[in-house]
This record gives sequence, C-alpha cells and structure tokens, in this order.
Amino acid sequence: MKYISTRGNAPELSFEEAMLTGLARDGGLYVPESIPTLSADDIAGLAGKSYEEAAFVVMRPFVGDAFTDEEFKGIIARAYANFRHDARAPLVQLAPNHYLLELFHGPTLAFKDFAMQLIGQLFQFSLARRNERVTIVGATSGDTGSAAIEAFRGLSNVDVFILFPDGRVSDIQRKQMTTPEDANVHALALDGDFDDCQAKLKDMFNDFEFRDGVKLAGVNSINWARVLAQVVYYLTSAVSLGAPHRKVSFTVPTGNFGDIFAGYIAKKMGLPIERLVIATNQNDILHRTMESGAYTKEGVTPSISPSMDIQVSSNFERALFDAYGRDGNAVAQLMEELNEGAFAVSQGAMETLREHFDSGRASEDETNATIANEFTACGEVLCPHSAVGVKVADAYLGEVPMVTLATAHPAKFPDAVEAAMGARPALPPHMADMMDKDERVTRVPNDLGALEALIKERIAQR
Ligand SMILES: *Cc1c(COP(=O)(O)O)cnc(C)c1O
Repeated sequence: MKYISTRGNAPELSFEEAMLTGLARDGGLYVPESIPTLSADDIAGLAGKSYEEAAFVVMRPFVGDAFTDEEFKGIIARAYANFRHDARAPLVQLAPNHYLLELFHGPTLAFKDFAMQLIGQLFQFSLARRNERVTIVGATSGDTGSAAIEAFRGLSNVDVFILFPDGRVSDIQRKQMTTPEDANVHALALDGDFDDCQAKLKDMFNDFEFRDGVKLAGVNSINWARVLAQVVYYLTSAVSLGAPHRKVSFTVPTGNFGDIFAGYIAKKMGLPIERLVIATNQNDILHRTMESGAYTKEGVTPSISPSMDIQVSSNFERALFDAYGRDGNAVAQLMEELNEGAFAVSQGAMETLREHFDSGRASEDETNATIANEFTACGEVLCPHSAVGVKVADAYLGEVPMVTLATAHPAKFPDAVEAAMGARPALPPHMADMMDKDERVTRVPNDLGALEALIKERIAQR
C-alpha cells in the first residue's frame, strides 16, 4: 500500500514512512493511493469479535507489509490494554433510534486515546527496529496533547513537545499535560490560540533544516495512522446495530475533521453509512462551508467545547482532495488562497461533499440545554462536545439508526457540565488525585525562532 500527498508534489511513501513523517514535504497530507474494501461478508464477520480482533481486520489492508500479522496483533493488544472498559467503545441508547458511542474510556478520557495509544505502540515498534530517535511536536486544543503525552511518556527513543494555547484549555486538560514526570515530556504553553499553535507546528515542518536536524515527527490528526485507528469504531458500532444488512448514520462533534473523515473512510471501505453529519459549535467554518461553498476564516471565539474551537480544519483537505477528483494541484491552489483568508469550493466539488456529508451547528445555549435535557431524559451525562453532537443529530433522527460520537468524558469539563445541569461530574477514581499534583510547563512566545531554539536546547540536554 502506497501513500500519496493531497498536494501531489511529495514522494510516495509506505505506511510506516507516512506514519513517521506526518505532514508531507509539499505541505500536504498523506492518503492511501486507493481505499481497500471489505465485502458485506467481511463486515458481517466482525459481529461477535472483540474490539482488538475487529481492529486487526479493518486496519490490516492499510499497513501493507510493515508488520507481520503477529506483530500487528501485538501492537493492537498493547494499544488498548489500558482502556477501562472491556468493550473499548461501548454503545448506549439515548432515545428511539439514537445511540451514543462512548469513546472516552481510554487513559485520558477522550476519543483521541483510540488513535494515540495505537500510534505510540506503532512508533515504539518501528523506531526500535530502525534504531532511530524522533522528536514529536504536537499542537493541541486540549485533548490531543494529553493523549500524546500519555502514549509517548517514558519511551526512550522519543521526545514529545506539546504546544497548547495558554489559558484556553480546561484545568484537567492542562494538568494531564503538565503533571507527568517523565523527562521526555515537554508541555509548552503558547501565547496565542489553537490556530496559532497549529500554524507554528506547520512552520516547523516546512523548515526542512530544523525538521531534518531534530528528526521531527507529527502525531496531530493529520497523521494518517491516527485517522486509520478511528475507522475501526465506525465499523464495530454499525455492526452491533445490524450493518451491513441495515444502514447506520453518524453524527460527529468536529474540529479538525479527523474523526469524521475516518467515518468517510469506513464508508468508502464498504460500510453502508446513510449520513455523516458534521456537528460544529459556534466556531462553525465547516457548517458555513457546507451551506455556502465558501471556506472563510473568521477567527476563533472560545466556547465551552474547546477541543472544537478551530477555524482551520486540517483534515478537511483530505475530503477536498477526493472532491476535486484527487487533483493535488487544485488542492495546493486552494490552500494557497487560504493563506489570504478564504477559498471558494467549486460547484462540482461541493456536490461531491454534500453527497457524503451533512452539517449542523449548536450554539452555547443549545449545548447547555442538551446537557441538562439528556440527563433528565435518560440519565446520560454528556461532555459539551458530545452535547453539540447530540443537539445537531436531533435534526437528522429518522428510520435509520443514528450514532452520535461521545468524544470526551464529562469529568474532563466539570465546570461547563456543572453550569449546565447543576451537578459536578466526578473524575474516575484512578485519576482523582491529579488536581493536587505539581505542574511542569514552559511559557513560550508565538515565535518560530524562539520555539525551535528551545526544542533544540531541550534535546541536547538529554
Ligand atoms: C479533538 C476533539 C474533537 C474534534 O475531533 P476532530 O477529529 O478534530 O474533528 C471533538 N471532541 C473532543 C472531546 C476532542 O478532543
């Protein structure tokens, strides 16, 4: 299996190379040259399998000959061993034909653990075999950073630097990033918002001298291996609701478009998905784009669902690549225009996007009301991100079962949940002491040179 860049101007790579690289050298994102398919029988055969067994069947065709079957099974087993729920991704029912896929039973209580725990094990295996070291730099709006730190802490061939927007993540998200004591973990609080963090990360990748000098590797949701890990739970949940004999729809609380893009891949693999609904908070660039065809940056307004506070949605580029008939030059042109603040999606590409995706937006008031209402209606406590999903899904309920993805545990956002429903969700017992632990964090300016110097200095000290 070969991987190609969405901007058509970078070397083709194997799965392992694409995973270790992250962003392509032409600024694009890696995607498989073609999407392997599962037959209806293959999909039906997932019924009754454990999450790990299903993960092996779904991901195996994408990794090519990077690992033997036994090696890959071992990697998957280690990745999900730290989850606190034996089903890994359990489904609960909210209402007639509306289900919630709980993706928050991993070590940092957000769905990012599904991808990050796997990528940690994949990196460890590959780097040990190649006898190499890498520097991982990630940008986070809150959950990616803690998930990355939890996945890579203590690994001898990796340093992990996480950039987060100073003052714009929840206390628990910050504590999860700043309390690990491992020497290879570096939490950096950047003076700016999440888009600034993400822009600095891109700049580092485009500075080839720095990139090669520190052996930079990316684990943001642009990393193909992360998208791949997320494909699995679309299949397992759909199969438990009767797929492939019955269609299923999904609503996905969306920021960087990684999670919902994984749903699109599941559909391309052959899973009969009726609708894929993009749910945004008040930072609704994707919803506006789906409505108008114009992708226009407007700046971020902080919300109670901070992991979706985003204006440049990186993985959307992968959907655009397909919508433009896999024309890398056309995508490169759009991204060029985006540097000036906006681009217009062609009519043909919009039609393709609308074939696959619907969209909706939830305001802050609607999100709060949804948290309160669901608790009253069925006792389920939603985090604000999941509540955005449930609210948007409401407009799409019908005969086809709807699965809304619950992307974080409510206890990760206790202030917002308490304000909405009057009771404070408790952290799971194994994390209860986290708020009392000492923090280790470095404040950094929104400046590329200063950041690169700091990273080089830290690595030299190790
Ligand atoms: C990251 C995140 C999202 C958004 O996921 P994307 O893949 O970036 O679209 C939604 N909810 C939570 C809790 C998250 O951590």
